[in-house]
Amino acid sequence: MEHTASSRQRAGIVGGGIGGLAAAIALRKAGWDVTVYEQASEFAEVGAGLVLLPNALAALDEIGVGDDIRANSHPYSLGGIRNPRGRILMSHRKGAGGRDPVIVHRADLIDVLVRALPAGCLRTGTAVNSVGVDGEVVTAAGADRYDLVVAADGVHSVVRQQIWPGEGSVEGSGVTAWRWIIDAPPPSWVGQVWGNREEFGILPLTGGRTWAYAGARGGVDILEHFADWPEPVSQLVANADPTRIIEHELLEIRPPKSLIRGKIALIGDAAHAMHPHLGLGAATAIEDAVTLAAFATDLPGYNKDRRRRVRTSQWLSRRMSRVIMPANRPFAAVRDVVMGLTPGVLALSVFGVVNRWRPRPITCRTECDERVELQEEIPTIDKRIANEK
Ligand SMILES: Cc1cc2nc3c(=O)[nH]c(=O)nc-3n(C[C@H](O)[C@H](O)[C@H](O)COP(=O)(O)OP(=O)(O)OC[C@H]3O[C@@H](n4cnc5c(N)ncnc54)[C@H](O)[C@@H]3O)c2cc1C
Repeated sequence: MEHTASSRQRAGIVGGGIGGLAAAIALRKAGWDVTVYEQASEFAEVGAGLVLLPNALAALDEIGVGDDIRANSHPYSLGGIRNPRGRILMSHRKGAGGRDPVIVHRADLIDVLVRALPAGCLRTGTAVNSVGVDGEVVTAAGADRYDLVVAADGVHSVVRQQIWPGEGSVEGSGVTAWRWIIDAPPPSWVGQVWGNREEFGILPLTGGRTWAYAGARGGVDILEHFADWPEPVSQLVANADPTRIIEHELLEIRPPKSLIRGKIALIGDAAHAMHPHLGLGAATAIEDAVTLAAFATDLPGYNKDRRRRVRTSQWLSRRMSRVIMPANRPFAAVRDVVMGLTPGVLALSVFGVVNRWRPRPITCRTECDERVELQEEIPTIDKRIANEK
């Protein structure tokens, strides 16, 4: 159903990452006009893999892109979890259809989201310089005013720093992360290796590609650290193309007390960047986006709904990171024994909390709905009158 542009409420979205694009699709479903400001000149092939759990897929279904994402994803299949000495901590798990987790290349996810939006609402190569609590968005080209401004500009958010000064500080985790894509099918074993202060992961992607990642806490800052880990890790490290490796420290944002201020709502990494160890970075951004659209005219409702969830997700992600790489040899030894005795119990209980989340339905409540329906009926009535003549 098309609406008359003048009667619709307008949202300006700062940042065209996963959160910003999902918010744009969700708000359009709620009947809003949207403009997405993205500083990068194009939506390029950046990033590596992401795991999308059932909570993220439910949110993507709510905005109508879930099946397209699944078609561009690999089913989540994990050969198991081992420690670097080859001890099996958890054996084979495989998803089978429906809302089972999937693994997607970040660029493929971005591509599906971009294709679900009209090109006219995307302003690439346009960095936002500042915003106002009254809904003003300022770029080098000038200022525009919106009924809602969505701050989806990532971990170093300009909007958060300007509107929430002194809150939402960026906190280093002391964990260095490496991610890269290999244009070849995965080795015969895929899964995770949990060490003392480091981890390594190998997962399949669509198109016969492999996503490899590694993380290490405190003091380990070169990928070659993993060179003597058992196969297939050592081979993947030896063959890694340095030009394709994305390396950075994992960062966290302590969420501000309120996720809203005036006409501005914070979503995604801008609000609560978290450790990736539960696959919740992108998922929580998508959850925020879809919830914001369900509450778009009630920002306090959005804040109330999301604050507890994002704190829980962030807390669980931080704890999971401590389990995977505790940096404490006795703790790692206890973990290995417990995981071996009760396979999957820890993972299933944590993932249960995370996965149970389901989105609120987004309804189109614009004032123009009735008028639009009437307008759509007019040609029908005109035709009937013409036929009767
Ligand atoms: C380039 C890139 C690659 C990534 N790769 C991975 C990966 O491989 N695996 C993984 O798990 N996570 C990755 N992440 C992180 C993951 O995508 C996010 O944690 C998660 O999706 C949250 O998304 P977000 O939309 O809140 O933030 P982001 O994905 O960070 O998106 C923020 C967007 O805002 C734009 N932006 C920032 N400032 C401005 C401004 N002033 N004006 C206009 N636009 C602005 C940025 O260019 C970016 O596109 C990556 C993030 C980025 C930006």
